[in-house]
Amino acid sequence: MTHRKIIYLDHNATTPCASEVVEAMLPYFHTHFGNASSVHSMGRRAANSVAEARSLAAETIGAASDEICFTSGATESNNIVVLGLANHPRERKRIVLTSIEHKSVLEPCRWLSAKGFDVVEIPVTRDGVADMDAARHLIDENTLLVCVHGANNEMGTLQPVAAMAAIAHANGALVHCDASQMLGKVPVSMDDLGVDFASFSGHKVYGPKGVGALFVRQGSARSLIASPYRGGSHEGRLRPGTLNVPGIVGFGEACRLVQEKIKHDVVILKRLRCAFEHAIMQTLPNARINGCRFDRLPGTSSVTISGVPASMLMANVPHICISDGSACNSGAPEPSHVLLALGLSRDDADCTVRVSFGRGNSAAEAEEAVALIAGAATLLRSRMRETAIPKT
Ligand code: PMP
Repeated sequence: MTHRKIIYLDHNATTPCASEVVEAMLPYFHTHFGNASSVHSMGRRAANSVAEARSLAAETIGAASDEICFTSGATESNNIVVLGLANHPRERKRIVLTSIEHKSVLEPCRWLSAKGFDVVEIPVTRDGVADMDAARHLIDENTLLVCVHGANNEMGTLQPVAAMAAIAHANGALVHCDASQMLGKVPVSMDDLGVDFASFSGHKVYGPKGVGALFVRQGSARSLIASPYRGGSHEGRLRPGTLNVPGIVGFGEACRLVQEKIKHDVVILKRLRCAFEHAIMQTLPNARINGCRFDRLPGTSSVTISGVPASMLMANVPHICISDGSACNSGAPEPSHVLLALGLSRDDADCTVRVSFGRGNSAAEAEEAVALIAGAATLLRSRMRETAIPKT
């Protein structure tokens, strides 16, 4: 059996830990293993390192250190905002979210809908961008929270977060942005986005899994969240529990690397994606790139190859790691809600793959991926034509 090199093109699902991150984390497993809440010297050592990581994370997104709450990742950050605001006794009962939010926003909102909240979804255009006319219509003076993610994980389309925040604030509502796919791929500034809350994930930015952050703007936004958790005073009582010091240190280092590398990364990722999409369209002229007429994350490409189911395509290119729709949906039988929201048919949604480039990829890998994907798609199409039962 030949051992072919794996080409990893699934960086929106997860990224490898940068070697600097692993190196920064290691001493916190065995040498500096103190509990950051302990008052002795080992505890203080750990607490100081957490403080350093907090300031790196804050600096990277243009926030203050006391606006960062460490969590286990974007899923938990999203849940703390949605459920924490709903916990706070207020008159406002409307929650407005885009129809293409990640499930870690959609599902807590839908759960609240069953508890009596008025949850409404903003539709998206055919290109996967929130429909702002609909947003203006749906966000009203009864709105508690507006959820708009920064960049869609499946197509990479950047959303009009600042414009949405302006509409929400004009109506006295709070705004949450799941920015986990933006960080490290485009510059992120809390003031430019104008949001009250934002979620981040370590493993999307070459940091460790199981750690992330929640930005909570100090002032009224903070006072209106009643955490769904009880059990300790850690992280301003928003997220109680012993701090994951190695993970937090790794996340801080990953943020430092984002600051160092963002300019270079954006250029390289865009170059790889453009080369990939150009070559795919040349070799498979009836392929379609979703969301391509709008600003997108530089390294993300969502490609529909009608008639070629993504699961079959992926099985025929075993050395290439790509995903069908969203990796978070893998294993679930239903087609991606994001692709259906764009207006794709169920068949076309099933025939869509996501390719997401990252720091380690080269132009040669992008070229090889096109050759293998196009070759497999052509072969599968002709096989399916041969086995198709003629209509009588
Ligand atoms: N939001 C978005 C947009 C995501 O892409 C993901 C990961 N697929 C998450 C939330 C969940 O992040 P985590 O794995 O850190 O919980």
